[in-house]
Amino acid sequence: MGSIDKACISGFLCRLCSEMHRTVIHIYGDQGQRHGLLEKINGYLPVTITPTDPLPKTICESCLRRVEQHYELLIRIKKCRELKERTQRASERTATIERAPQGLEASDDDDELIENN
Ligand SMILES: [Zn+2]
Repeated sequence: MGSIDKACISGFLCRLCSEMHRTVIHIYGDQGQRHGLLEKINGYLPVTITPTDPLPKTICESCLRRVEQHYELLIRIKKCRELKERTQRASERTATIERAPQGLEASDDDDELIENN
């Protein structure tokens, strides 16, 4: 804290957390493209980044991790939902083929005892 070096190079603003960081990842840079940042941010976060907007095109490393985790979580949820829908559809098909009779089961509590002590 307080070194001349740091005072001169204040850093870069992170697009997501709006904090200054000395090390950032350029969304449109090589690393950003490798991570698919534009797709992950624009597609899965309430943020829209365009090359012409006046806001920073950089994110910090901790936000990068958060974006990756968030993306992974959403992909997992999506996959689970798809799997569930697929198995649900499959079981619906099986149900219509088999069509189990839905008769009322006879109740077996007719020998109910009322004890009066
Ligand atoms: Zn950040």
